[in-house]
Amino acid sequence: MDKNIINTNSIDQIKEIFVALDFAAFKHRHQKRKGIIPIPYINHPIRVAALVLNKIENPDIEMIQAALLHDTIEDTKTTIDEIQAKFGSRVGEIVIELTDNMSQPYFVRKKLQIEKASKLSYEARCIKIADKICNINDILYTRVGWIKSRKLRYIKWSMKVIDQIRGTNKEMEIEFDQLIFESEKILKTKLFSY
Ligand code: ZN
Repeated sequence: MDKNIINTNSIDQIKEIFVALDFAAFKHRHQKRKGIIPIPYINHPIRVAALVLNKIENPDIEMIQAALLHDTIEDTKTTIDEIQAKFGSRVGEIVIELTDNMSQPYFVRKKLQIEKASKLSYEARCIKIADKICNINDILYTRVGWIKSRKLRYIKWSMKVIDQIRGTNKEMEIEFDQLIFESEKILKTKLFSY
């Protein structure tokens, strides 16, 4: 038997993941991440889901689907009802946990992310860490067009969010800390309090 054939147990799960990927790609189809060279928005949730898939031991399908969908409600016209009808209530709950209330002012939303982080479910915490890793990576290594103080503000705020949920996943937290260490070198600023 050809060992590269997807076995019958996995094929349904792969299909479920691709339904979420296809849905997210459609919803974000007109969006680009701002920057000097704009990147299609969908690259971001794909990155987040790939990180979760690689770093979490035995992730479940819902966690991967939620990672792919995590910005659809916040950044597109997608509703919670749509997500729940298509992917079930658990995926919907995780995505809602990761959605900022966009009717609130920017600084309130940022403050609430820190305050609410420790109350998130395990799945939402894993995706949250992956999201911050991907965003900081973009800030450091792609041409986002931000001045240094804005980059530092985002990174310092992310550190406060992640500090609330340490102990969620060791591997991702090590990767996050490594990235902060790299940020210190690239931005020539002390961020850790050693
Ligand atoms: Zn995101």
